[in-house]
Amino acid sequence: MKYELTCINCPMGCRITADYDGKEVTNIQGFTCARGKAYAQTEITDPTRMVTALVGVEGTHVPLSVKTQTPIRKPLIFDALSEIRKTVVVPPVHIGDVVISDVCGSGVNVIATENIE
Ligand code: SF4
Repeated sequence: MKYELTCINCPMGCRITADYDGKEVTNIQGFTCARGKAYAQTEITDPTRMVTALVGVEGTHVPLSVKTQTPIRKPLIFDALSEIRKTVVVPPVHIGDVVISDVCGSGVNVIATENIE
């Protein structure tokens, strides 16, 4: 099967083509750097995404912005968002603090992206 992708790792947005036989990605073309080649391989075989969201903060209506520490597998995103939505943190919380450890068994932590005192 032939794939056509746009690399999302930088603003250049390289158009990448590749072949996938269900086991191996081959004939990857159009990338400008190694990140693009790696992106194509992952995107075709096991796509991942960063997730950003908001969680509740005890004692206020102002939510805290959070994100996954690294990209998580695409099929887990819905469950991850569901777990994130149920989360309420207790201040103080600082940038980089782990808000949810191993969200939905993904092996990825959700961390704060702002400070709340
Ligand atoms: S292949 Fe490299 S240069 Fe091209 S969009 Fe991806 S990261 Fe940017």
